[in-house]
Amino acid sequence: MSYTFGPVPSRRLGRSLGVDLVPFKTCTFDCIYCQLGKTTDKRMDRKTFFAPRDIIKDVLRRLKEIPRPDYITLSGSGEPTLYSPIEEIISGIKKTTDIPVVLLTNGSLFWIDEIRAAVKEADLIIPSLDAGDKNIFAYVNRPHSGISFEKTVEGLCRLRETYKNPIWLEVFLIGGVTDIRGEILKIKKWADCIAPDRIQLNTAVRIPAEGFVDMVGKEKMEELRSLFGKKCEVIADYSKVHSVGEFRRTQEDVLDLLKRRPCSVDDISDGLNLHRNETAKYVQELMDRHLIKREMRGNRVLFFAH
Ligand code: SF4
Repeated sequence: MSYTFGPVPSRRLGRSLGVDLVPFKTCTFDCIYCQLGKTTDKRMDRKTFFAPRDIIKDVLRRLKEIPRPDYITLSGSGEPTLYSPIEEIISGIKKTTDIPVVLLTNGSLFWIDEIRAAVKEADLIIPSLDAGDKNIFAYVNRPHSGISFEKTVEGLCRLRETYKNPIWLEVFLIGGVTDIRGEILKIKKWADCIAPDRIQLNTAVRIPAEGFVDMVGKEKMEELRSLFGKKCEVIADYSKVHSVGEFRRTQEDVLDLLKRRPCSVDDISDGLNLHRNETAKYVQELMDRHLIKREMRGNRVLFFAH
């Protein structure tokens, strides 16, 4: 089984080798804008989903095969802090390479002392904050019932007190919901407490989990950026905007490929030149529509068209 994907080219992290620590859509949130689709395992109890030894072995194997990436990113298809031995993964990677390790997280569990301690050796943490109050938080992030807005922002502020390396705060804005001056100022109040080194604004340039989610246009984003001050930049990649028609066409391409031969998610990504996370979303929807099925072959998970 492969726990790594990429290297994925990204504007903010250059070429980054992704590492998946949790199964697909295992998350503390079920964000309305999630580009991976709906959360299938919403949880807040942590678990050793996969053996740390196997994950580290896979990272090292991949590093031998590819040119040196700019970052190794713990992210993937869910919330990485749900992986209980995350500290072991960070220290295991850092023992063998000096490539910086980045943690991409929704930031929902930093109120737990043990989790802040477990991630302290990461070279960069990129948490999210998409709301300035509990109502917008509940609407946008649809968190697990054990996670409140107060706990989340308290955890992020406490992270800043103890964590010595850079924090880049990602704020995902939604048209008609948070692209409003009043909402931005509420988020900014919390951002001032979190005191990140950078604030990065994103919006729904890719197909979101819910069809009612609207993207914020480029000019509006620039206008809102100025409310956050000098540390803030827009990272939304407007060249990646996908229409629903395009999404359907690509999904048909995935189905056509699977009609020709069974493939793993990585085979599909390579064959159609898609990001692995995007492929996973197409595959999930084709599974939901009962157009394909999944089977184990040896130690590989393969997908077949019916
Ligand atoms: S966007 Fe991130 S935090 Fe939100 S549901 Fe998707 S994986 Fe979880």
